[in-house]
Amino acid sequence: MSNKVRTRFAPSPTGFIHVGNIRTALFAWLLAKHENGQFILRIEDTDQKREVAGSIEHIINCLKILGLDYDEGPDVPGKYGPYIQSQRLNIYHRWAEVLINKGRAYSDTFTPEEINDLRQQSIKQHKPFLFRNYRPQTLSAWDKTKPLRFKSEPKDYHWHDEVMGDLSAGQEAIDDFVLIKSDGFPTYNFAHIVDDYEMKITHVLRGHEFIASVPNFLNLYEALSIERPYLATPPPVLNSAGNKKLSKRDGAKDLLEYINDGYLQSALINFIACLGWNDGSVQEIYSKNELIKAFGLNRVQKSGARFDEQRLLWMNGMHIRNLSIDQLAIQSDRFWPKEADKYDQSYKNKVLELVQERLKYLKELAELTRFFFVDLPINPDLINNNKKLKELGNDQLKQLLIIATTKLSECDFSLTSLTDSLNQLLIETNQPPAILFSLIRIASTQAPSSPPLAESLAVIGKDRTLSRLEQQINNL
Ligand code: GLU
Repeated sequence: MSNKVRTRFAPSPTGFIHVGNIRTALFAWLLAKHENGQFILRIEDTDQKREVAGSIEHIINCLKILGLDYDEGPDVPGKYGPYIQSQRLNIYHRWAEVLINKGRAYSDTFTPEEINDLRQQSIKQHKPFLFRNYRPQTLSAWDKTKPLRFKSEPKDYHWHDEVMGDLSAGQEAIDDFVLIKSDGFPTYNFAHIVDDYEMKITHVLRGHEFIASVPNFLNLYEALSIERPYLATPPPVLNSAGNKKLSKRDGAKDLLEYINDGYLQSALINFIACLGWNDGSVQEIYSKNELIKAFGLNRVQKSGARFDEQRLLWMNGMHIRNLSIDQLAIQSDRFWPKEADKYDQSYKNKVLELVQERLKYLKELAELTRFFFVDLPINPDLINNNKKLKELGNDQLKQLLIIATTKLSECDFSLTSLTDSLNQLLIETNQPPAILFSLIRIASTQAPSSPPLAESLAVIGKDRTLSRLEQQINNL
């Protein structure tokens, strides 16, 4: 085996990529980067019936968006291509010949109906169905119109999984599985072994569902006399209740949905990496480089990792706060309300400085900031739903706003003078902030919440603030 670590992500193009799928890719990528190795993308499209149009582009897009760059893949030429299995049929047929010549593969002459009958018989007898129990005495030559089966040599296996530890299985796990189907395409069981070998993959990371088939794979490696790669099987990502594997039906979202909602690449990577992995410290927020440095298969946990969207939301907020304003400006560009179009970047940056603390995902930006760019219509509910304000009654609210307007009109709207004026207003009106500041906030923003009042008013500016207060007064 070559010394350079080479890992791969080998998705089937059968639909969108969700967090569970991408975690396998991320772990393989992190391992390759940690080891200064290479990461390969291979498309496993041998089950053409299950193929969903557009999936390959989608997979490539997701990897690009997450920054999981690959050294070889369908669109990145390399020494061991092609990297799409349907373009490698001659290679599988060549390896099939090797097995046939060794007497380790034979033509399956049963019809699908006959096989089904045999399976039903086994079920009736409460026995596991093993095709090898029905293997014909004399093996027919393969005419390529029938499936080609592996002639297994049943035995017990003990093997080491880099995540799950020492595993074993008895002979009943070994069977004469199909290598090449009657349509000429290889099965996953055959193709991935050939490809991992030809592509010099050193570490195979894949989902838990394949673990039961490993004894068959080991049998095939032996039959082909090829050295097997290290095997690593991270446990499944579980739904939020933690009781079953995260699936599309269970609300697993397309990864691109998170991107469209304004989750940051760095937060998604951090969140997904920590689904079932930790470095043994209490650290929760990692940059991509920190993850590369810290990652190792030895600290991938053996039990399932629960997918908690609230945690992702929290983590995204943390990553947003770690950005400089210029970085946040770049990330936020497509999330501004349309009213922000005519404002320059320096004004937008002031707004960003104010909302950075409270943004959890960037799609919130439009709603949180619209009032900085446009006068929103008076929303009577904001006062009506505020018990304390409602109790004071309109006349008193009006009075308070008139006093506030007078005071603020004497202010130069620098942050210090605004802070002073607002504090003086509390004394003059003898009202608590929960009343006075809420009222001024509502009048000046018409939004249910805003960043701190003085800071917000400083950005909104004097003329605009005063005219909005005026508007509110006229509406009380
Ligand atoms: N093509 C398989 C799948 O998408 C991948 C298995 C593997 O990584 O070997 O489930």
